[in-house]
Amino acid sequence: MPTPPALEKVRRGDAPPPRLLDYERARAEFSWEAARAQLEGLPGGGLNIAHEAVDRHARGPARDRVALRFLPRRGPPRDLTYGQLREETDRCADVLRSLGVGRGDRVFTLLGRVPELHVVALGALKRGAVFCGLFSAFGPEPIQARLERGAGKVLVTTPALYAQKVAPLRARLPGLEHVLLVGEPDEVTRCEGALDLWRLLERASPSHELVATAPDDMALLHFTSGTTGLPKGAVHVHEAVVAHHVTAQLALDLREGDVYWCTADPGWVTGVSYGVIAPLTNGVTSIIDEGDFNAERWYRILEEQRVNVWYTAPTAVRMMMKVGEEAARPFDLSALRFVASVGEPLNPEAVRWGVRALGLPIHDNWWQTETGGVMIANFASQPIRPGSMGRPLPGVEAAIVRRTDAGVEEVHAPGEQGELALRPGWPSMFRGYLHDDERYRRCFAGGWYLTGDLASRDEDGYFWFVGRADDVIKTSGHLVGPFEVESALLEHPAVAEAGVIGKPDPIAGEVVKAFVSLRPGHEGTDALRADLLAHARRRLGAAIAPKELEIVAALPRTRSGKIMRRLLKARELGLPEGDTSTLEAGA
Ligand code: ATP
Ligand code: MG
Repeated sequence: MPTPPALEKVRRGDAPPPRLLDYERARAEFSWEAARAQLEGLPGGGLNIAHEAVDRHARGPARDRVALRFLPRRGPPRDLTYGQLREETDRCADVLRSLGVGRGDRVFTLLGRVPELHVVALGALKRGAVFCGLFSAFGPEPIQARLERGAGKVLVTTPALYAQKVAPLRARLPGLEHVLLVGEPDEVTRCEGALDLWRLLERASPSHELVATAPDDMALLHFTSGTTGLPKGAVHVHEAVVAHHVTAQLALDLREGDVYWCTADPGWVTGVSYGVIAPLTNGVTSIIDEGDFNAERWYRILEEQRVNVWYTAPTAVRMMMKVGEEAARPFDLSALRFVASVGEPLNPEAVRWGVRALGLPIHDNWWQTETGGVMIANFASQPIRPGSMGRPLPGVEAAIVRRTDAGVEEVHAPGEQGELALRPGWPSMFRGYLHDDERYRRCFAGGWYLTGDLASRDEDGYFWFVGRADDVIKTSGHLVGPFEVESALLEHPAVAEAGVIGKPDPIAGEVVKAFVSLRPGHEGTDALRADLLAHARRRLGAAIAPKELEIVAALPRTRSGKIMRRLLKARELGLPEGDTSTLEAGA
């Protein structure tokens, strides 16, 4: 693939100089030990995420700085300073203590984006317990499966979610000892068998002695998005905080005192690593927006809260693009310094849209639940190559490899495709899949962690995403990555979203089939379909362009916003749909 030109970036006049100006030197000089030294640690070599996120700041000059600014669905914003968050999380740890929660016990939340989630997550970590966030829109089955597999001892949720989804499951969850509710007292008292978190917090001690955790103690449990199959439970330890902390500086340009907004839900890894932990360890003010996506409201938040750094997802960017860049015009986005996205490939058109609508390009970065933190990124200081995931962070060694009978071999030729691999040793690497040691072992070979994603690397060391190994299409001897085809389709003005699969074909092996949804104002006529196919052929050539194209109202996605190509394929072929526990409602 020829390397497209890099995008020149215009820096805002008052922006601080970006880090990593000399990328090679920063890589050479980086060490995880030095990164760890930015944190305080506990006496005797211990480490605790909540201590680094909260207590460290609450004792210093940041005590009265706003840590969390909560924008509720209704009513005015509510602030919690670092000092207040210290007290609330201590109270929460004390509540958990009084309920018999100790080291290694599992504390789950089933909550929307509310500050209680941060309080519970950090309170559990202070107690030495393990935190696991569940997405609040999950139905009863996925909730039960995760609580059971994760041995949930405590669940924190709301009265409404409890009544609807949890109460009917209680009898089937003998290990779930306590349910704590966040809500108005009259609603809470109506829920039998559950406790009132607010009341318990009020009565608890405002100072709890932090349980001295070791760097290797389990801290977080994250279930993957379930894009390629049954979600896996990835185990993370307290040491991960070293990576959360420093990667937020390197990949998100985060600086102490920034106003920062991560739009990811804490039901997914991004919403915890970069929605709860990293902003706090870095001493920033985090925006928590309870509401659902609405382009105008999002622009208003960026303006009114004077957001400096914004971390979002390609699916959100594409929803904003759908509304049109004119929607951004009335808003003053001059506080914004850096915008990044993760979760899916960011098509080049979306990077450029950022420049037009926000005045800043969008920096794509790559990582996964298993890596716990950003591994590959487009940096503030470096030119963006639109469509590329960027380059490995200092401290991260990435390679393109091919599996062989003997193990794996590295692919060195620029542009050649293979599996993306990482050299183990970064602190936020997952330490296991829950109840699946064999699968964990299979992820490692020849001294590499194999990510399951296909990519290539260009001559300057930028990585280009091709597709998940499971999604790659083999057609007439060509290997086609769905991302390349989807990106080309997304350049057509009528296309809002695109998902591409390989459809078995007796002659070609597979043929490329595309599913697209349209932007408002476009009709799914035969003429448009023909035009889209012709556009793709011009852009990609006949070998790679889709042979079939179907216009659909919407594409099936996971609740974390990823297109579920396996479902498009199963539906196309009339096969069983497999695990759909993370499928977005109505898709
Ligand atoms: P499952 O493992 O259950 O199938 P999942 O892999 O989607 O689900 P996550 O860990 O949430 O679960 O997502 C990580 C994956 O998302 C990556 O392995 C990659 O396939 C994709 N991804 C994340 N960021 C990017 C990016 N910047 N560009 C391309 N793909 C990305
Ligand atoms: Mg995965």
